[in-house]
Amino acid sequence: MRRHALNVLACPACEGALRLNSVASENLAACDVAEGELACEKCSARYPIIRGVPRFVPTESYASSFGFQWNRFHQLQVDSVMHNDLSRDRFYKTTGWPTCLAGQLILEAGCGAGRFTELALEAAAEVYSFDLSAAVEAAWRNNQDKPKVTVFQASIYEIPVRKGIFDKIFCMGVLQHCPDVAGAFRSLLPFLRPGGEVVIDVYEKSNGFPPLKYLARPFLRPLGTKGIYRLLSWTIPPAFEMKKALHRVPAIGPRIAGLIPIGPISHAPRLNYTDKELKQVKILSALDMLSPVYDQPQRIEDVRKWFVDAGLVDVEIKRGYNGINGKGKRPA
Ligand SMILES: [Zn+2]
Repeated sequence: MRRHALNVLACPACEGALRLNSVASENLAACDVAEGELACEKCSARYPIIRGVPRFVPTESYASSFGFQWNRFHQLQVDSVMHNDLSRDRFYKTTGWPTCLAGQLILEAGCGAGRFTELALEAAAEVYSFDLSAAVEAAWRNNQDKPKVTVFQASIYEIPVRKGIFDKIFCMGVLQHCPDVAGAFRSLLPFLRPGGEVVIDVYEKSNGFPPLKYLARPFLRPLGTKGIYRLLSWTIPPAFEMKKALHRVPAIGPRIAGLIPIGPISHAPRLNYTDKELKQVKILSALDMLSPVYDQPQRIEDVRKWFVDAGLVDVEIKRGYNGINGKGKRPA
């Protein structure tokens, strides 16, 4: 954690200012606090700083599958490591923001391993990113070399920052995994400054037959996240190889290959994956579909109502990259 974060972080219990109560390990050159404690100046609450990350929640709660997932696959969706534009493409298509965000204060709700954090930082914004899960460890590791980042572990329902100060808030790939989806959206809004903009995406509820993941999940849940991960790690790589071999068999081969339910074995050339990485991508996507405690897709008319009921202006709701995209501004 950097000391300048004290100007923005606030006690989630009483909104009081926080001070560095004790510092156990510090890197003076970067003004970084690696281990220490934050204390509320108003109430008696104290929050530890562990491995550079202030912790405002004692457990990962319903988000523990994401803690496992994003520490296991901490770099697979990070563009700067994978040398592709997977996250960049989604970030800019969803937000519609310019590539220069210098001078902007941005809050990211649900950062995972920090795939979008690095893009907001690259656009020169000052970024505050949090996650309920231990994914904050990966997000901090992936981004800690940049001076304008703060990563903290917190609940979306009790965000420990000052109200009314953020130019922009974004929350991507997160809301459907919260117990109260609309409530999680509403809890973001008090932190926008007047005129500030919020951008979210959320899975869309289909009108037809529910996707297979919803049928498979009750059978897999008893395995737990690690068990599901092991199962996928044992089955997906050989299925991938078998599918690849079948594609080389003339005529009937590709048709039989189509029955193996792991999606295509090719990918867009711009994504630049080796076969080994593509197998990892498939394990990650399957784990992401099968392991979350909550997965609550929404209807587009309900999402529009959230924005309108909250009194936001310049509202734009449309189908997009990951279901429904919503944008709106707090009146100036
Ligand atoms: Zn307090």
